[in-house]
Amino acid sequence: MKKMKSRFLVIGSGAGGAATAVELARCRQEVLLLETGPDLPFPGNHLFAFLALDGHGFLSSAEGMGVARAVITGGSTVLSCGTALRPPVGLLERLGIDIADDLEAVERELAVKVLPDDIIGEATLRIMEAGNREGMHWEKLPKFIDTGKCRPGFCNCMLGCPHDAKWTSRNHIDEARRLGVQILSSVRGVEIQTATGRVTGARFLLRGKECLVEADRIVVCAGGLGSPMLLRKAGIKEAGRSFFVDPLVLTVGVHPALRGAFDPPMTVGTKDFWQDEGFILSPVMDPWISFGLEIMKAAPARLPSWGLYPRNMAIMTKARDALAGEIRSDGTFSKPLLEKDLATLKKGQDASRRVLRATGCPDKSIWDMKVRGAHPGGSCRIGDVVDENLQTRIENLYVCDASVLPGALAAPIIITLIALARRLARHLTA
Ligand SMILES: Cc1cc2nc3c(=O)[nH]c(=O)nc-3n(C[C@H](O)[C@H](O)[C@H](O)COP(=O)(O)OP(=O)(O)OC[C@H]3O[C@@H](n4cnc5c(N)ncnc54)[C@H](O)[C@@H]3O)c2cc1C
Repeated sequence: MKKMKSRFLVIGSGAGGAATAVELARCRQEVLLLETGPDLPFPGNHLFAFLALDGHGFLSSAEGMGVARAVITGGSTVLSCGTALRPPVGLLERLGIDIADDLEAVERELAVKVLPDDIIGEATLRIMEAGNREGMHWEKLPKFIDTGKCRPGFCNCMLGCPHDAKWTSRNHIDEARRLGVQILSSVRGVEIQTATGRVTGARFLLRGKECLVEADRIVVCAGGLGSPMLLRKAGIKEAGRSFFVDPLVLTVGVHPALRGAFDPPMTVGTKDFWQDEGFILSPVMDPWISFGLEIMKAAPARLPSWGLYPRNMAIMTKARDALAGEIRSDGTFSKPLLEKDLATLKKGQDASRRVLRATGCPDKSIWDMKVRGAHPGGSCRIGDVVDENLQTRIENLYVCDASVLPGALAAPIIITLIALARRLARHLTA
């Protein structure tokens, strides 16, 4: 057995894990980062996106709802749309957690800003105008995309950016490596070791070889689905009991003239319904191959519209769902959507239809895809499984990823998690 030692052990290299590792490294701490996914290049095409997706895109709940998460260095951020929204006011404040300054610092670091019109694209701008004509307030959404590198046209941020224009947690991983963090990818069977109520380290397999790392403190950042599995195996059985997925549905229409399918996703949207109704609307189109798969799942009779791919345009309803279901130690999970969740989605779908019609899509061309989950989280919630400093009831065992969020955001999560990681690193090094 190979033996190692590190002051800090971080498990998972996505939004929460890479940020935690780099923040600790910036404070000159010794850090070992374990990642179960491979450290593959990510050239931005369908093949790599399918390789990166857990279950190659076919991960689903016991109820059959598809849920997306990437298992690769950088985690799900490699597939993100690059959109940066702050969490709803009050979500963390009511738990006594103030990350306002950290969010500002993260926005500066990631150079968050809205995109210029030529990158947003004509079809998306027309959707925004139509939404405003329909009496909603549509606006440009802030992004962590380097406009100098972005080349609009035949690419989609969700396949990974071939031009390196989109910020991902791989930027943090690169910096962490330069600062001396040891990063082990493709590790298997990570098990947290404890003695007398405190962590002592972890066991895992690296290329078939057994390894044991002694660590003073462990931060679990394996994501909304991964972290509860690790915690349950460590004896924290309450982890994974109910969670959210931010369910989303795409309402699609075919435009007679505009070619919107290749516009970058989530560059504009409306937050009119966010606070009171619990959903946001924003144009997002599935990449070409997954679009075909989604047609087959939801409406095979619509297959001819696949051939018209460039002229398809879609508006995503992303909704705040109730905490429900369970994640089991073996990785299977159940996530029933409640009547209330479906009613919220329906309101968003109706509003999306109105906007697509006002953009010029004929009514008969408009249809809805199946509901999917894109942001699993809330499975190791602050107040239930971790305290306000993100520590579990096992001493020196912390969690910092989407699983600690107390409820669904119905919105992008990444900058919130990086801000939480900054706050945690300050606490751990104080
Ligand atoms: C298609 C898509 C688009 C999105 N767009 C946006 C967007 O525009 N803006 C935004 O803010 N958010 C977006 N999100 C959501 C965002 O990417 C995730 O919410 C965020 O990355 C979650 O961070 P995390 O640290 O919780 O988990 P992840 O980023 O998923 O990272 C978890 C990491 O842990 C690893 N891991 C899991 N289990 C283990 C284990 N046992 N041992 C070691 N490692 C393990 C995984 O391989 C992964 O690398 C999007 C998500 C998807 C799927």
